[in-house]
Amino acid sequence: METLLRNLFQGLAKNRFANRLAKKYGLRFGAKRFVAGITVQEAIEAVRQLNREGRIATLDHLGEFISTREEAVESARMCLNTLEAIEESGVESNLSLKLTSLGLDIDKALCMDNMRSILRRARELNNFVRIDMEDYAHCQASLDIYRELRREFDNVGIVLQAYLYRTEQDIRDLNAFKANLRLVKGAYKESPKVAFPDKKDVDANYAKIIKLHMSNGHYTAIASHDENMISIARRYAEDNGIPRTQFEFQMLYGIREDLQKRLAAEGYKVRIYVPFGRDWFGYNMRRLAERPANVWFVLRNLFK
Ligand code: FAD
Repeated sequence: METLLRNLFQGLAKNRFANRLAKKYGLRFGAKRFVAGITVQEAIEAVRQLNREGRIATLDHLGEFISTREEAVESARMCLNTLEAIEESGVESNLSLKLTSLGLDIDKALCMDNMRSILRRARELNNFVRIDMEDYAHCQASLDIYRELRREFDNVGIVLQAYLYRTEQDIRDLNAFKANLRLVKGAYKESPKVAFPDKKDVDANYAKIIKLHMSNGHYTAIASHDENMISIARRYAEDNGIPRTQFEFQMLYGIREDLQKRLAAEGYKVRIYVPFGRDWFGYNMRRLAERPANVWFVLRNLFK
């Protein structure tokens, strides 16, 4: 049953019709649990509240499917707006974005132009931009773009996923780039040809890559709600003299608030991924796929 629900939600996340429909109707069915709002002002308010409680943030303007150059340019404009809003409000947050929403599938040069203008402005504002990792089909292209940009910019990082067989080698290859990496388990439905099908193998690889990147001496964002993985990272840092300035924990808005607060109170850097915007549907479906038990929360909200 759980596998069935996972597949259903992962399928819905990619369904263009469902995404378009949901976009029309605003935040529905409990979407507010995972998404901070529609406007950048609402998102800034959510970050301000997190900052008050000792957590910092990364803002993501949601955008799932882009099919025209105009949409990609508009998406870049939203990223620039978000950077300006962070600066004007004085909240502590950086920016996360997806290369497909900046035109990766339309024209690589357009995507690079958009990225360069965002990174240039972020650099002027002393801010940082993280490239989210999407499905396997975009992995190589995303890493190629990251490498190209990293040669020009210090303020760019990327995400690697523990479920992919290739990730350990990618970390070794990125060593020369002193990469600032967010490490995650991975949120998309992938073939066993490219990704570990069993959760226990994903977890084992996750622990392995966290240690590998930390030992390489580069900044590591451990993005997980799994207390076991968090303990492994903490212990590894303590045992190996890795300073707290070289890593941070990251969690998603609305998930495991208790754990977020506990780690922050213990003096760890805790950054919350705060998504906002009309394109909430695909993002929320991926959250349901990770934990089908969340569906009860959605059902309860259907009748509110
Ligand atoms: P799991 O083993 O899945 O979960 C551990 C525990 O966390 C669960 O038992 C439950 O208590 C809690 N939990 C986990 N998920 C949920 C949920 N949806 N609702 C309620 N409780 C939950 N993936 C990508 O592929 N690319 C990215 O760029 C990316 N960026 C991310 C950024 C951040 C800050 C975070 C935290 C995750 C990101 N992810 C990304 C998602 C990630 O890959 C996982 O799908 C997600 O974090 C769930 O895995 P987990 O490590 O929390 O462990």
